Amino acid sequence: MDENSRRIETRAIHAGQQPDPETGAVMTPIYASSTYAQDAPGEDRGYEYSRTGNPTRAALEANLADLEGGTHGRVFSSGMGAINTVLNLCESGDHVVASNDVYGGTHRLFTQVYDQYAVSFDFVDMTDPDAVAGAVDSDTRVVWVETPTNPLLNAIDIAAVADIAHEHDALCAVDNTFATPFLQRPLEHGADVVCHSLTKYMGGHSDVVGGALVTADAALDERFGFYQNSVGATPNPFGCFLVLRGVKTLPIRMERHCENAHTLATWLENRPEVQYVYYPGLESHPTYETAAKQMDDYGGMLSFELDATLEETSAVVSNTEVFTLAESLGGVESLIEQPAAMTHQAIPRDERIAAGLTDGLIRVSAGIEHVDDLRSDLQGAFDTVLG
Ligand SMILES: *Cc1c(COP(=O)(O)O)cnc(C)c1O
Repeated sequence: MDENSRRIETRAIHAGQQPDPETGAVMTPIYASSTYAQDAPGEDRGYEYSRTGNPTRAALEANLADLEGGTHGRVFSSGMGAINTVLNLCESGDHVVASNDVYGGTHRLFTQVYDQYAVSFDFVDMTDPDAVAGAVDSDTRVVWVETPTNPLLNAIDIAAVADIAHEHDALCAVDNTFATPFLQRPLEHGADVVCHSLTKYMGGHSDVVGGALVTADAALDERFGFYQNSVGATPNPFGCFLVLRGVKTLPIRMERHCENAHTLATWLENRPEVQYVYYPGLESHPTYETAAKQMDDYGGMLSFELDATLEETSAVVSNTEVFTLAESLGGVESLIEQPAAMTHQAIPRDERIAAGLTDGLIRVSAGIEHVDDLRSDLQGAFDTVLG
């Protein structure tokens, strides 16, 4: 059977991996060795030093490349390490266009690190392709897309943005952390590189920090490999093992994440305490059609706006018992947070509210617990604080 025709549920478990040829070990071993024996100077057996290459990491890189429909993968010690590697392509004078609601760490890297190397940035509302077209010029090196966005879950049309980037010889990079390749494969829509925080759904168990880049362009991958080895934000083999292990259950976990999030979103839409629900799979969401076009399902993240003050909303997120009050997302356990007081607290209040991040906004990462327990936990917190 042609390996490429296998379904993603099968490839998540097998791609890039085979039983260890020496021992038959079914799970890829953790190769902790920092250095590798050479048969003669320069005659290594594929590995020489673990920053440059490591067999456990190589298995994960091949697995991720396969799931994203690319040919080359690179794994890093964090999502930020992966994102930084794309920015390493920029020279002073280059320009980057990014979506206006990128992950906070991405915004900080762009504006506080690369800014001092004379790379310039424009942040635009990418739900409007004309805004992207208006910002891209002949100096633009990278167009940086994150979809769906955080925390309002806007879907950005990857194909439309990639076309605009290519008209100007810029690269289109997509941060696919929220969707994962189970729901969305940006390379199929024309993106040049896909980026991940493996810390979230790919690892899936809130026990590892990692990042990845995948591309189908060998020359681009070679440059990523050069920066990976030169900058040194490489992952340790135990972290790679944890992600390899996590990815095996990605499809089955994502199915439940999507099902739980969709059920909660539909329920919340009909609660009197709730003013508005942001979930890409609700027809009421402003970017529903874009999400439906490029995603296979709508993911495990949702946000909703309570009819409540900043303090009341803080009390609601502090009064859940199954949901843990925490930043981050994508683990098997459900998390809840208040963007105005936590993830997006650094944004000045006026600007924050103008962007739709109101005091009553709550973001949820729906885990894979039984949805009845999640629903009654939220109702209990509503009753305690707002009842
Ligand atoms: C968490 C996250 C990152 C950063 O990844 P780390 O693994 O924390 O370095 C980047 N993009 C998105 C969308 C994220 O959620």
